Amino acid sequence: MNANSLQTPIVYLKGVGPNRAETLQSELGIHTFQDLLNLFPNRYIDKTQYYKIGQLQRNSADVQIVGKIVHLKSVEQKKGKRLVASFVDETGEMELVWFRGQKWIRENIKINTPYVIFSKCNWFNGKFSMPHPEMELQKDHEQGLKVAMQPVYPSTEKLSNKGISNRVISKLVQQIFIETKGRFTETLSEKLLFELKLLPKSESLFNIHFPKNQELLAKAQFRLKFEELFYIQMQLIAKNMLHKKKIKGFNFDQVGILFNDFYKNHLPFELTGAQKRVIKEIRGDLGSNAQMNRLLQGDVGSGKTIVAVMAMLLAIDNGFQACLMAPTEILANQHYTGISELLEGTGITCSLLTGSVKKSARRPIHEQLESGELQILIGTHALLEDKVKFKNLGLAIVDEQHRFGVAQRSKLWHKNDIPPHILVMTATPIPRTLAMSLYGDLDVSTIDELPPGRKPIKTVHRFDSNRLKVFQFIRDEIKKGRQIYIVYPLIQESEALDYKDLMDGYESISRDFPLPDFQISIVHGQMKPADKEYEMSRFVKGETQIMVATTVIEVGVNVPNASVMIIESAERFGLSQLHQLRGRVGRGADQSFCILMTGNKLSTEAKTRLQTMVHTNDGFEIAEVDLKLRGPGDIMGTQQSGVLNLKIADIVKDNDILKTARYHAMQLLKDDPSLEKPENLVIRHAYSQLVKYKNIWNYIS
Ligand code: ADP
Ligand code: MG
Repeated sequence: MNANSLQTPIVYLKGVGPNRAETLQSELGIHTFQDLLNLFPNRYIDKTQYYKIGQLQRNSADVQIVGKIVHLKSVEQKKGKRLVASFVDETGEMELVWFRGQKWIRENIKINTPYVIFSKCNWFNGKFSMPHPEMELQKDHEQGLKVAMQPVYPSTEKLSNKGISNRVISKLVQQIFIETKGRFTETLSEKLLFELKLLPKSESLFNIHFPKNQELLAKAQFRLKFEELFYIQMQLIAKNMLHKKKIKGFNFDQVGILFNDFYKNHLPFELTGAQKRVIKEIRGDLGSNAQMNRLLQGDVGSGKTIVAVMAMLLAIDNGFQACLMAPTEILANQHYTGISELLEGTGITCSLLTGSVKKSARRPIHEQLESGELQILIGTHALLEDKVKFKNLGLAIVDEQHRFGVAQRSKLWHKNDIPPHILVMTATPIPRTLAMSLYGDLDVSTIDELPPGRKPIKTVHRFDSNRLKVFQFIRDEIKKGRQIYIVYPLIQESEALDYKDLMDGYESISRDFPLPDFQISIVHGQMKPADKEYEMSRFVKGETQIMVATTVIEVGVNVPNASVMIIESAERFGLSQLHQLRGRVGRGADQSFCILMTGNKLSTEAKTRLQTMVHTNDGFEIAEVDLKLRGPGDIMGTQQSGVLNLKIADIVKDNDILKTARYHAMQLLKDDPSLEKPENLVIRHAYSQLVKYKNIWNYIS
């Protein structure tokens, strides 16, 4: 059967009909033969064994039994009725029970006729009972396709109510194989099949639905997972290549005076190997005639700022302006201060624009920006306002991309006729697997090395009951001249309560650390920006020793003398947030500490998070654990959660297959970008079919 006839509406499959077609559509999204063929089982059950009722154990797993129904009755219960059948074989008696779909069972079940039943057995009221068993007449069972492993398909309550059981679905799939003689168009090239020793398409589809043995099942799964990931990667990589061809960028071909002067005379430290490599990657993009769209990821403290500065110097050397946008005022201020310091003596002009910059101060900024006099602008969302017009913006850098939406990023594009180069920096490392799948169309640079001399932060978990000891520890550290962060959770849903916790905490800390020996700052989201700024600056200057705050300090704040991070109610924070918070310390030469405070009651997941934090400082490792705990949808935000709606592959577990698929997709497109070579026609055809019938798993926008 060719690919087109697999587009036949499912209603025309023998055994379906209008009613079932509608249910299959609404419940499983199955519209065509193809869709049903691509409904892959969730798991498989060993069906080679039969049990006798007399052999059953109280904790038996799924069992398969041959016997007859001798009696059927309705039993009234609190909520509605249940249907109960007495089921016997030569060794004993048990009950079969239905709560749903009773009418259908009553009308269709045959009394005193041999059935093969299958399900999990319960011990209930002194008897074995099996709720909602799978059932098949023994004579049909014997005629049916013999498989060692019975596939279990996704199911819903409505499906079972309508009598579309697992067995029925399996039968329908069988019907497709009968009508097509099980011959399906190959969708991968000979070369790939050969190189990766992949099972052919027809054999894979057969064995995924009717596995002949474990080995063939494993091969079928590998082939189909590979295929799924391969075509997604093809799409992403093709999109990236097209982007580079189509979207012209400014060509920064000069590595000029400013860049070289800075490198020789102003760089306050030796760059790490990773920083050098990343700068080289960025330079490559900037001189390539195409618009740069690069994600720069690097753990907190890995030194992304200097990379940003050097990229901005390249822009200025080529006669362009650059901007850097940060998600909060505090962070924008810090960037401005830090970068101004770095640029001292270079003659480069740099200004700050945030919501709290006064109108009178804005006018000159606007003017200098339009005249080109101002070379670097640092700020918050305020940069996106229409009034902010650049003479020639050549490079836009966005820090901490998780906080900005795609829409905001694209607003930056439209500040010019030709879009500026874009560099997105994030300290929340996206797990490699996700980066590969989601940002296949962005280029990714990674700083995977910390500047030398950093002492790893020591992280411990302490229960609230040990608070006194923790306070003593704080006192000792302050005596040594260190500064302390104490962070409280602030979750939108319980905002009022959280503020109360914060204020209660602040009061109790003020009591334990009284004036005049101790000075305390407090910063939270309900304060006016100016007040926040004031409190923050006292801490930065070392006038206060303790900073009590909500997560507003999460992003980017840099106070090297602060060496202790206390996180209250740590069980309520997500892993990436905990890691971000911890990154506020460990920036100076002293040994730093992170103390995770929690109550006694912890969920398993919370325990895993805490253990992960105690065990590692590696942001990538943490991101991978986070991905496993929360799943990709959560990590990327609901907006993109549908994105990874894979049919068979699992983005976390099938990481290796993903890498292989990406590698081969990349090779193929490098070698034959428009898939014109005869040996790639198969792929070209399959790809266009996928796109045409939207079977390409509705991938990224
Ligand atoms: P992040 O990647 O979190 O933005 P920063 O750019 O703020 O990190 O850098 C963190 C600290 O490390 C800063 O104080 C910076 O001056 C310092 N730093 C960055 N690169 C190096 C380096 N190669 N050697 C020494 N210190 C460095
Ligand atoms: Mg930073």
